[in-house]
Amino acid sequence: MIIHIRKNISEKKLQEIKEKYNAKQILSDKQIVLITSSAYKTVGTEYLQYIESHYSFDNDIQLASREYISQNREVTIKHKTIGGNGENTMLIAGPCAVESQEQMEQTAQFLKTKGFTAIRAGSFKPRTSPYSFQGLEKEGLKILSNIREKYDLAIVTEVKDATHADLLIDFADVVQIGAKSMYDHGILKKCSQTQKPIMIKRGFGSTVQEFVQAAEFVLSGGNNNVILCERGIRTFETKTRFTLDLCSVAYLKNHINLPIILDPSHAMGAAYGVPDLARACMAMGTDGLLIEIHPTPKNAKSDAAQQLSFDTFDKLYQSLIPIANAVGKKII
Ligand code: PEP
Ligand code: MN
Repeated sequence: MIIHIRKNISEKKLQEIKEKYNAKQILSDKQIVLITSSAYKTVGTEYLQYIESHYSFDNDIQLASREYISQNREVTIKHKTIGGNGENTMLIAGPCAVESQEQMEQTAQFLKTKGFTAIRAGSFKPRTSPYSFQGLEKEGLKILSNIREKYDLAIVTEVKDATHADLLIDFADVVQIGAKSMYDHGILKKCSQTQKPIMIKRGFGSTVQEFVQAAEFVLSGGNNNVILCERGIRTFETKTRFTLDLCSVAYLKNHINLPIILDPSHAMGAAYGVPDLARACMAMGTDGLLIEIHPTPKNAKSDAAQQLSFDTFDKLYQSLIPIANAVGKKII
C-alpha cells in the first residue's frame, strides 16, 4: 500500500502510522509518501484524517505500477528525455567492453557523426569465466570520461559490485545493472541513493515480477530514474544465446510505468540475427535499444560473436527509421 500523508501531520502521528504498518518513507520533496507491503490493503479509520489518498495493490509491484502512476515516467539522460508522452527512442550502441582509447574514439566518432545521444561500454565486466577479460576497470572509466568530454555523448556503463559503485555512479550518465547483478542488494541500494538514471537488465533466470521488484528497490530507496532493459531469458533453447521475451515487453508496456529498453545483442548472441531482432524490437514501440558494435568485431575481447561492424549497424539504423516512424517514435 502507498499512503500519501497530509503535510500538517505531527511527527509523532507520522511515526505511529509508520510503526503500525511497518511503513518506509519515500524521499520526496513534494509530498510525504509511505509505502508498506502490499499485504496491507487499507488504513484504520482513526488515521483517515491524516491521509490524502492511499493505493492498494495485488502484489509488491507498487511504485512501478500503472495503478499508482498511470502515465509513463520520464527519465532524462544528459538533457534528452525518454518515456513520458515523448516520442524519443534512444539507440544506445557501443562495444561490449572498453578495450582502449583508440577503440572508444573510433566508436564515439562514428556515433557522433550519425547524431546519436549515447554510447555504451563496460569497464567492469562480470564475466562467466574468471579467465576471460574482466575489463579495464578504473582505467576504462578514465577513457569513458575523456570520450564524454570530447564527444558530448552520454555514457552508459555497468556497475559490477558495490565496492566501486560510488565511483562508477560519478562517471556514468546511465548506470547499468547487469543481468547477473539484478539481485545484488548492495548495488541496488547504492543506485537508490543517487539521482542518476539506472538501467536494470532482467536477470536471465528471473520472472517479470522479480525483474520489476528489483526496480522497486531503487524506486523505494529514493531514485525515480529507473529504466528496465529486457535482454532475454534462459529457456530450453540452445541454438541462440538466450530467448528474447517480447511478451514480457508487451506486459511491461501495459502494466508498468517505467521506460523500457530492449537489448537484441545479448539475447541473440550472434551478429547475424541482431538486425532482424532489432527491427522487431523497434516495432514494439519502446524507449530505446541497446546494440553492441565494435570497430573490428572479430578482435573484441568480450562478446565478439554478437557485435556489429559500423557498416552493418549503419544499414540497420537506416532500416529502423521507417519502423520507428510507423510506431510514432523518433530515434535519438
Ligand atoms: C552487457 O551489456 O555487456 C552485458 C554483460 O549484458 P547482460 O548483463 O545483459 O548479460
Ligand atoms: Mn556484452
